[in-house]
Amino acid sequence: MFPVPKAEPVERAGHALKCPVCGHDKFWMKEAQLHTKVATLFRLEWLNPKGDCYVCEKCRHIDRV
Ligand SMILES: [Zn+2]
Repeated sequence: MFPVPKAEPVERAGHALKCPVCGHDKFWMKEAQLHTKVATLFRLEWLNPKGDCYVCEKCRHIDRV
């Protein structure tokens, strides 16, 4: 078992962020919520630690802001 963070709707510039791949609207925010174990699970180690990344809850598409 590992703590899975709750995916949440993301707003950017007043608009709800939608996944460009599947259209889902809930994301994990890497900076704020992903723990090391989860980041490892999703293979996010390669991402730049600076800057916000949103990971689609549904298809795991990574959107960088
Ligand atoms: Zn998606």
